[in-house]
Amino acid sequence: MKVAVFSTKAYDRQFLSTVNSPIQHELVFFEPRLNRDTAILAAEFPAVCVFVHDQVDAPTLELLASRGTHLVVLRCAGFNNVDLQAAADLGITVVRVPAYSPYGVAEHAVGLILSLNRKIHRAYNRVRESNFSLDGLLGFNLHQRTVGIIGTGKIGLILGQIMKGFGCDILAYDVYHNPELEALGGKYVELPELFATSDIISLHCPLTPETHHLIDAEAIEQIKSGVMLINTSRGALIDTQAVIEGLKSGKIGYLGVDVYEQESELFFEDLSGEIIQDDIFQRLTTFPNVLITGHQAFFTAEALYNIAETTFANITDVEQGRPCANEICAQPKGN
Ligand code: NAD
Repeated sequence: MKVAVFSTKAYDRQFLSTVNSPIQHELVFFEPRLNRDTAILAAEFPAVCVFVHDQVDAPTLELLASRGTHLVVLRCAGFNNVDLQAAADLGITVVRVPAYSPYGVAEHAVGLILSLNRKIHRAYNRVRESNFSLDGLLGFNLHQRTVGIIGTGKIGLILGQIMKGFGCDILAYDVYHNPELEALGGKYVELPELFATSDIISLHCPLTPETHHLIDAEAIEQIKSGVMLINTSRGALIDTQAVIEGLKSGKIGYLGVDVYEQESELFFEDLSGEIIQDDIFQRLTTFPNVLITGHQAFFTAEALYNIAETTFANITDVEQGRPCANEICAQPKGN
């Protein structure tokens, strides 16, 4: 199938081209993100392939449909950037890659936890300047600490397994209970108990209207003082301004984030020569106990290979008229 592939960097092109070479879909790579202005690039392409920051909203979908596109192929799991109802109304099929690197994301969350806890990000800079003082680098043992995991699907479960290996107690909150987490010794509790008793809170639920700003001023009131908050899921799970207040007061002792609510203005680009206009983000970067990575938790060779494989399998399913297990449909109206 002829596919317009948006938001491509050199690494995307490398993995997609390699995996596609025996399959021979006709790929045309575009560097820009898909949005209302760039949709014209996909004219006459039956399929577009997009990533997390492409704006697949109703106007963009209307433009795509009017020029012959009937398939949107997501190279990611989250689909909060797609108007599924508009796609359904326009007869556009939407498919995604539901899992490509749950170990990679969970391991990155652990990387943030260990770096913050033992202040490795600060030690790295100090040693490079021949400053071998330990003042300010005091950490704490993870052994016997309580880790609260919100969202215990694929990634949350793996984080639970890894943290269990450190000797942590696992608390969990999810709308569904995962028996594998319970078998591990994890205990499901309501959010107020998780907030009040966890030393580390890690977010692994999707961004939905229910989870938007899950960590807000009210939640921060309830958390244990000095908590470590980790977010590798979606930026808008936390109200960044409220978290900044929590960091200033000391209620939040550590913050590790791989995602940020306004990240689409920043992440995946080299802006080192520019003046960043986002004052909230800039304030976050000033705290010594905050560690930010730019949406790289998924970014392993295994993940890029898996993304490419599933993406082409999805396209082939749709091209050959087979049901695609990775199709996402709009909720019926009223839900
Ligand atoms: P998953 O679907 O396997 O698990 C999500 C879990 O969240 C499910 O168990 C679900 O029941 C639960 N959930 C849904 N609504 C909830 C709510 N209101 N409260 C609590 N729990 C709720 O997904 P996953 O593969 O584990 O991925 C989790 C999230 O990680 C994704 O939604 C995505 O946003 C994010 N992600 C980030 C990266 C990255 O590079 N930073 C990469 C992949 C995924």
